[in-house]
Amino acid sequence: MNLYSTKHTVPEVDFRTALFQGLPSDNGLYMPDHIPVLPESFFQDLHKMPFTEQAFQMAHALIGDEIPAEDLREIITKAINFAAPVINVAEDRYCLELFHGPSLAFKDFGARFMAGVMSWYLKEAGEKIHILVATSGDTGSAVAQGFYNMPGIEVIILYPSGKVSLTQEKQLTTLGQNVTALEINGVFDDCQRLVKSAFLDEDLQRKINLSSANSINIARLIPQTFYYVHAYGQLKHIGRPMVFSVPSGNFGNLCGGIIAHKMGLPVERFIAATNVNDVVPEYLETGIFAPRPSVATISNAMDVGNPSNFPRILELWGGDIEKVREKVFGLSVSDEATEEAIKLLYNKHKYLACPHTAVAWLGLEAYFESTNSDALGIFLSTAHPSKFTDVIEPVIGQSVEIPERLQQIILRDKESVLMESDFGAFKEYLLSR
Ligand SMILES: *Cc1c(COP(=O)(O)O)cnc(C)c1O
Repeated sequence: MNLYSTKHTVPEVDFRTALFQGLPSDNGLYMPDHIPVLPESFFQDLHKMPFTEQAFQMAHALIGDEIPAEDLREIITKAINFAAPVINVAEDRYCLELFHGPSLAFKDFGARFMAGVMSWYLKEAGEKIHILVATSGDTGSAVAQGFYNMPGIEVIILYPSGKVSLTQEKQLTTLGQNVTALEINGVFDDCQRLVKSAFLDEDLQRKINLSSANSINIARLIPQTFYYVHAYGQLKHIGRPMVFSVPSGNFGNLCGGIIAHKMGLPVERFIAATNVNDVVPEYLETGIFAPRPSVATISNAMDVGNPSNFPRILELWGGDIEKVREKVFGLSVSDEATEEAIKLLYNKHKYLACPHTAVAWLGLEAYFESTNSDALGIFLSTAHPSKFTDVIEPVIGQSVEIPERLQQIILRDKESVLMESDFGAFKEYLLSR
């Protein structure tokens, strides 16, 4: 797999380099130099393959032989050790549940696959690495879980003290082993600044091997192609076209779907469903891409004002907005509409959805209202509802059951290292490890 920078000012790199570097030095994004197309027979035969075999075929086509096929298969079997079922919620409407992994959110796909491939390369080279992650909640817990007990990897998670939910904090601070949580006296931006400063500090770079688990890493994108294909395999016997509605923030999830489509997956339309942070739906309507500070909403994992993966989506269509519009339908919804959708899904369809999932459902409704499509509508569920009880319980007027494994995490004792938000203290800490 060769990857180029979307800014085209640095040479192409191999998968390993893009994986450990994250971002090219010209501040572009790494993109595969070509997208392989799988034979039609692959899509026809999906129902005969387990999910992990479907995933392996996709990953192998993309990455090639940089990782031997048998090793790649093993990495995937370990990483994707949970299901991604489609649930029939209403007539012709299906929910693709992506929250059956350890952190109960779809980010487990990206984080676990990335951890697996990183660990494989480190073992080959006999090296050790420190992964630094700044988090406002969800990414940190998926990364912590994904890299937990991975040989050769120390994970350091920076989170803003008092600014994440109790459940999120427990998910970050109770693993132990190779995962250390730094509780920063500051806000998320301080955490992010500390991580960025560490990568720019030549002294630190010389002394320790640092890497990030950033959401723009190519290794987080690859596994996000898997479940679109898996959903198609589960529904293709119905013999209808399919539409995928994707609740979006940084647009990595949607980008994965579009790559799967470019690899041959038949898709009628994708729906880019956002909350009021509507930079992309606005762009599809007006042709103007105007990033701006994010606004807080009840679907907070999608509160992104500058969706960093969207340039990749444009790049997949050679920068041609008309081609993007042909395949991507945009919709932005308010918190009020999201709450109404949670209520409707629960009362009428007996389906309990997290706020992000409800946004995706509304994306489908809007699409089918504005077209005469007879496709099956698939909305992606990116988190388990029990992660958002504070939003959901007042809306449905009932308490939400917490799954056993989450209850156990909440009961564990928190272990964190408290730290001020100045770089001196952080650097000293890193050097003392
Ligand atoms: C991260 C996240 C999203 C947004 O996904 P992107 O790939 O950033 O568009 C949606 N829902 C949940 C629950 C998330 O954690």
